[in-house]
Amino acid sequence: MKSSYFTLIFALILVISCSEPKENQPITNFEPQVDFALAIHGGAGTIKKENMSAEQDAEYRAKLEEALNAGYAVLENGGEALDAVVAAVKVMEDSPLFNAGKGAVFTNEGKNELDAAIMNGADRNAGAVAGLTRIKNPITAARAVMENSPHVFMSGAGADQFALTQNLEEVDPSYFYTDFRFEQLEKIRETEKTELDHSSLLELELEDPFFKDRKFGTVGAVAKDKNGNIAAATSTGGMTNKRFGRVGDVPIIGAGTYADNATCAVSATGHGEYFIRTVVGHEIASLMRYGKKSLAEAADDVVMKQLVEMGGSGGIISIDKNGNIAMPFNSEGMYRGYRKANEAAKVMIYKDEK
Ligand code: ASP
Repeated sequence: MKSSYFTLIFALILVISCSEPKENQPITNFEPQVDFALAIHGGAGTIKKENMSAEQDAEYRAKLEEALNAGYAVLENGGEALDAVVAAVKVMEDSPLFNAGKGAVFTNEGKNELDAAIMNGADRNAGAVAGLTRIKNPITAARAVMENSPHVFMSGAGADQFALTQNLEEVDPSYFYTDFRFEQLEKIRETEKTELDHSSLLELELEDPFFKDRKFGTVGAVAKDKNGNIAAATSTGGMTNKRFGRVGDVPIIGAGTYADNATCAVSATGHGEYFIRTVVGHEIASLMRYGKKSLAEAADDVVMKQLVEMGGSGGIISIDKNGNIAMPFNSEGMYRGYRKANEAAKVMIYKDEK
């Protein structure tokens, strides 16, 4: 009698634990929970081992690790995912190695115009800026838009003006200058044919042998904190030789930057026009929410299938509320890394690194 009673209880537990997840339950809830974690990227592109010196390779890895550790320290001390992604992105904005903040690419007019966005998965609050010219850390301006204004997206002179009312660090526009990026612009100018319209010019840029070795260099971070909240942040100078006020995917909420506790946080890097048209971040979240895919399946579908079919090269980093991380890319390489609670930082650059 007693044993059949236990068998019944056991069978009931089995049925309950194997039943389909309910509508709003995260689809990944059968995967192990990670207390806190973050992932970062420093841009995707034609990044090949044979084109990198040992010193360059080491320099990138050290900076990526520094950025990971800055975000990790925030999370380890019980800080918010939002603070962690800002801390990680700021390290990369301050480094001339990446196309964000110092070291940003140049516009056709020889200026640096910076875009950034941040999103909080807990309440889906978001802030974005485009075309900043004098704020040292554009990600802090995006956060100020989110927290201290009734708006989500500010652009151009107005965005600079708003940021300056927020006591954010101001720099002379020349601060963003680096020889390396200016030479990139000059090389593009040499190959430029005036009769080409802007979209075909971008195609030319990507086909040109010089651009085959080009590193994009946008930066981003996603994190999950001890409270189970997730956030995403992305910052970029956009694309070399951009003109006519061109804005890429980075500051477009749902495209290059997205976060929702119910699904995932995403930060993208790559050929922005394609990422906007695919609405990359929101598409990954939608495949999880409505398609019941796991984070890894959803991210793969968008980056390795949808973008590839369209011709959009690049990649993403993403995290869900259980701390699962997916970071697929369809380019030769992507500067990237992650660090999970009580684990060492892992930094990667090339395709074959796992
Ligand atoms: N996605 C950025 C843009 O199109 C460029 C990049 O990721 O490097 O502005």
